[in-house]
Order: sequence, then C-alpha cells, then structure tokens
Amino acid sequence: MARYREASCRLCRREGAKLFLKGQRCFSENCAFAKRGYAPGEHGRGQERRQSEYGLQLREKQKAKRIYGVLERQFKRYLQRATRMKGIAGENLLRLLESRLDNIVYRMGFAPSRKSARQLIRHRHFLVNERVVNVPSYQVRPGDIIRVRKESAELEVISDSLKRSGKSRELPWLEVDKATLKGFMVELPKRDEIPTPVDEHLVIELYSK
Ligand code: SF4
Repeated sequence: MARYREASCRLCRREGAKLFLKGQRCFSENCAFAKRGYAPGEHGRGQERRQSEYGLQLREKQKAKRIYGVLERQFKRYLQRATRMKGIAGENLLRLLESRLDNIVYRMGFAPSRKSARQLIRHRHFLVNERVVNVPSYQVRPGDIIRVRKESAELEVISDSLKRSGKSRELPWLEVDKATLKGFMVELPKRDEIPTPVDEHLVIELYSK
C-alpha cells in the first residue's frame, strides 16, 4: 500500500508548522520543529518565506494531506466529493477527512497519532458497529459505535495513549467511554470544532483553477 515514506519531523519543518505526526514526542522537548523550526536541507535556514498565491495554496494542501496522512489521488477524491456535497466545499472536505476511522480513533485517544491509529486498525484491533474494520479510510457516520476489540484491550499502546490524552483531545462531537473502550460520533463537526490548522479555502482555490 502506498504511503508517505519521508520522516515525519521533516514534513513539519517543510510546512513550517507542527503537524503532530508523532504522538507524545510532539509535546516533548524532543520535537524537531521546536528545536529547528526552519525548512530541512542545506538552504533551509535561510529559505525565503514570502510565497506566491499559488505557493500558499499548495502549502495548505500539502499540510492537510500530511496531517491526515492521505496521498494525492485519495485527497483529490475527497475534494471531488466535497464539492458535490451541499454546503461549503472546504468545510465538507475537512468533515470527510475528520470522519476517517484512523482520525476518529486518534481523536478518541485510542492511539497516540493518526499513523499509529492506521497501524492498529490494519491489525484488526477495532470494531465498528461490532464488526472488525481494518480499513483506515473507512468513513465513520454519526451514531457508529467504535470499540477496541476485547482481545486488544490490554495493548499498551492503547492504554498509554488513553492515559496521556487526558482531556486534551476531547471534542464536543465525539463521545468516548474510556472504561469500556468505546465511543461514537455524536454528529458531524462544525468547522470551529475541528482543531486542524489548515486554511481550507486556499485548498479549494488551488483545485478550482
Ligand atoms: Fe512534528 Fe515535532 Fe511531532 Fe516531529 S515531534 S512530527 S516535528 S510536531
């Protein structure tokens, strides 16, 4: 399966923002962006930050793709769906990305990062409505029950993540019961309930040319 191979911290430095791709490390003093907040490579430190309109749009698109761990072709499919849906295309796009199972598992605190959530899902540790789903891009709908499988309840990566996530990842559109290791999406999120630092309007502009 195709996926990003570039080191996660390089992606943050390339985008000039913390993308929180590495779980707990992102909140520690070992965060590479906190130490070297300039672009990677020989000329990264002196790199000119002023960008053309196209450059800004491109960077926002790359940022969104990297945060959610989605490749170009799949991203375009989300975009096409978002523009066909009722409402504001940019917000629809973020809602579709937020409804991915790997994102929901991460947001619920069952995994320290989306990357880790993808791995756990592929290894069949989660049920959606009592059926095993091993597809990270599975679209969760309001009311779907996400649950850690009984056989996986003791996994350290899950219990550690739940302990560390505390209240930090609580969102009004997700209900999580840490005692029974399950949760559900109450409703689709509104834009101001999606804590993703992306200007989605720029992404839509990029593709509407
Ligand atoms: Fe980005 Fe810092 Fe996390 Fe690395 S540790 S992925 S630089 S936020």
